[in-house]
Amino acid sequence: MGCFDTVLFRCECGNRIPAQSKSGLCNLNTYARTSVPLAVVAGLGETIQCESCGKQYRIVPSTRRVSLALLLRSNRKTDNS
Ligand SMILES: [Zn+2]
Repeated sequence: MGCFDTVLFRCECGNRIPAQSKSGLCNLNTYARTSVPLAVVAGLGETIQCESCGKQYRIVPSTRRVSLALLLRSNRKTDNS
């Protein structure tokens, strides 16, 4: 049994278009298109099609903004070496 994550897109016609990805954690999570983990993005196809009106879309990652994390550095002194 395969597991996958889902990213939800919305077509111009208002229909919801779910896109499946098998490359992430595969926790059967559903993500909004504005908060997709990079690992999940890698498993998405390049195009999706609306089953209601037939419009096709290309999936284009937007990397204009990324989130940054702060990792605490260990502040070891080298006095006693
Ligand atoms: Zn549509």
